[in-house]
Amino acid sequence: PSALVWFRDDLRLDDQPALQAALAQGYAPVPVYVHAPEEEGEWAPGAASDAWRRRSLTALDAGLRARGSKLVCVRGPTFESLEALAQRTQAEAVFWTRRYEPLVEKRDADIKRRLRRSGLHAESHNGALLIEPWEVETKAGDPYKVFTPYFKSAIARMRTPRVFDAPARLPPVAFDGEAIDGVLPAPTPAWDRPFWSHWMPGEAGARTALQTFVSRVEAYPEARDLPAVDGTSSLSPHLHFGEVSVQRVYATIAQCGAPKEARIAYLRQLFWREFAHHLLHHFPRTTNDNLDPRFDDFDWAPVDATQFDAWKTGNTGIPIVDAGMRQLWRTGWMHNRVRMLVASFLTKHMRNHWLHGARWFRETLVDYDLANNTLGWQWVAGTGADAAPYFRIFNPQLQARRFDPEGAYVKRWIPELGTSSYPSTPVVDLAQGRADALAAYARRR
Ligand code: FAD
Repeated sequence: PSALVWFRDDLRLDDQPALQAALAQGYAPVPVYVHAPEEEGEWAPGAASDAWRRRSLTALDAGLRARGSKLVCVRGPTFESLEALAQRTQAEAVFWTRRYEPLVEKRDADIKRRLRRSGLHAESHNGALLIEPWEVETKAGDPYKVFTPYFKSAIARMRTPRVFDAPARLPPVAFDGEAIDGVLPAPTPAWDRPFWSHWMPGEAGARTALQTFVSRVEAYPEARDLPAVDGTSSLSPHLHFGEVSVQRVYATIAQCGAPKEARIAYLRQLFWREFAHHLLHHFPRTTNDNLDPRFDDFDWAPVDATQFDAWKTGNTGIPIVDAGMRQLWRTGWMHNRVRMLVASFLTKHMRNHWLHGARWFRETLVDYDLANNTLGWQWVAGTGADAAPYFRIFNPQLQARRFDPEGAYVKRWIPELGTSSYPSTPVVDLAQGRADALAAYARRR
């Protein structure tokens, strides 16, 4: 008998529990992708994410074809498409990897019920996280809201994960879907072209990024905060799209030859990703609402279109902020330290609601991930779990001096720096912006 293996954000054949389960139960897998962004509401993947997905699906299809199979790509609505595909391929079951975005969790639960009602076997697996969001809880049985205790309790449960290699061969698929390019057309004009000198979407690219990083783990604790240096793993889009399993990443780093402190420093960041999914699962409203309700009546400034545009395009007149926003625009990615600085500038100096920034990141990041993005924005804005207190306001100039002392990062992304074409005065005076933010914070109390 055959079974649909419904691919989503798990675009790999290596260590792929849904595919493994279908094979282990004796099914001939029919790999399918269903395009239905309208089912994911306002937080559906944005343009940069779609540009990545198109390439990642193409890579997955090539990997499947090299093994004798192929990817059947169709358009939603999802349930109806899966049901029709199951009928046409005489599939008796559907397997997939779980996702945790609030609307997707709801939709998937509904799909599971309806598939079962139609007489199909439906089975979902954890192929995206080290630990399911509901597997860790406080002594009182509540979800964690603070990272450090979450991390302690989560890492205490960890064993080095068992990982499975990709199957060498897969049975042929007799059914054709649509062309990937038809369902997810290439952007025109090709604004994404500069991205691809930095990235290689797909499993092979993910594997290369991981292997390259293994040789740099030792330097990670110091280098991870320096935006001019390739000090981090750049695995975030690969992890978001599931092109490498987080289990594979964890096992590789945990067993590499780097000193223990360096290995732990890296694994700790993987647990920030876990924590973000824990929070999103338990507090689904936080995609739009402050986790900390004391901020619900905070006096955010109305968005000034000119200022906001300057922020988006990297023309605020604060070089470290502008360099970050330009790196984002050119590569679809921004260094974590700089993400914190641009987010702080927007939510504190400009006093704009964090949702405006979160929406721009949704559109522009290749690693856009609703859980990580929500956590990141609420953390910087001071409205989230374990957040930086609102009154602690980053001074972007001091931060630049500390983390980009030679100015290598700002010069790389702002070639006109120091000339008359770069804004000579910032859109917000730093001292004034800071004072206004603190005054608004005081009013709130
Ligand atoms: P590394 O330092 O190599 O870390 C390894 C992995 O750990 C990352 O790939 C990522 O999966 C995870 N990770 C690291 N830091 C964090 C963190 N703070 N929170 C959650 N996971 C983390 N990350 C996203 O993947 N998608 C987003 O949409 C996103 N939006 C963000 C928005 C803001 C305002 C901020 C401050 C951070 C955001 N982050 C987001 C987190 C972080 O900036 C990126 O994960 C990181 O920069 C990716 O680079 P890397 O893979 O080289 O990281």
